[in-house]
Amino acid sequence: MRCKRCRSKPVVLKLPRHHTALCADCFDHYVIDQVGRAIRHYRMFRREEPVLVAVSGGKDSLGLWDLLDRMGYRTTGVHVQQGIDGYSRDSETTTRAFAEARRLPLVVHDLAREYGGGVTAMAEASRRSACSACGTVKRYAFNTIGRELGFHVVATGHNLDDEAARLLGNLLHWQVDYLSKQSPALPSSHAKLVRKVKPLFRLTEREMAAYAVLRKIEYVIDECPMSHDANSLQYKAALNQLEQHSPGTKQFFYLEFLRRQPLAGVGAAAEEVVLNECVRCGEPTTGTLCGHCRVVEPLRQARPAETVRQHEGPPAASVAPMVVDWDS
Ligand code: SF4
Ligand SMILES: [Zn+2]
Ligand SMILES: [Zn+2]
Repeated sequence: MRCKRCRSKPVVLKLPRHHTALCADCFDHYVIDQVGRAIRHYRMFRREEPVLVAVSGGKDSLGLWDLLDRMGYRTTGVHVQQGIDGYSRDSETTTRAFAEARRLPLVVHDLAREYGGGVTAMAEASRRSACSACGTVKRYAFNTIGRELGFHVVATGHNLDDEAARLLGNLLHWQVDYLSKQSPALPSSHAKLVRKVKPLFRLTEREMAAYAVLRKIEYVIDECPMSHDANSLQYKAALNQLEQHSPGTKQFFYLEFLRRQPLAGVGAAAEEVVLNECVRCGEPTTGTLCGHCRVVEPLRQARPAETVRQHEGPPAASVAPMVVDWDS
């Protein structure tokens, strides 16, 4: 089969949701175009603005880093080492190898070194699910490290499947507060909060996997062992079933939500929230103790003092984040 765009080279990927099938070169062009459209439409960052890219070692985040670098943006990666046996070591090694091969700067934030235990220990001590603890601590680290290093924006590798699954979950449980915050670009609502953007929201998981293969990106294929209890996998499976039956459903579901957001007044609620400073770490929170401190404090208290790095006052991630710059 010949590519439907250039009509000369063989097809590498069918894109039923766009009624097309593309060769490797045209698919590459398509991916870059989709990311460029996302960045421009949401004014995610300017051409000369440095971008911190949150990288897990998976296809999406490494694909995103590769894309932004190719598109000429000034990027630095940030990787959170979660301390999950085997999986986290592989993720860190893969991320470091990617950065080194491209001579891109990388910050590695090791949770176990910082708090005396990784995500599973934190989850146990705070009686949360691993994913809840992990998500809270990672978001905190991306924000504080970004701010400490002078970035105004953090980009994550969330794709269309992630965002559609999140939307479905929020709707199923009528999480109106979360719906109001679901956007590919979250502006800063406090001097201590950096902007958060998702430049891959127009691309599917399958497309990002194809991009990683075509670009010969070595990524961690194994899912995190904690993901078995993530509801998002069930939502993704349900959406994939609908997509198979009717291509374009997933894209319509999420992109139409974004189109209708301003009409429904969604997004306004987020601006009205009053933020206080956490009594423990000083970071913005709606309550008195922030979510991050609620997750890490029980572990800190449960561990012998000598295994935990003490740092009263400043936020955890503010302790001298190390940037590995391959040019220096
Ligand atoms: S599956 Fe859960 S624990 Fe694993 S990386 Fe994702 S959020 Fe963290
Ligand atoms: Zn082509
Ligand atoms: Zn706090």
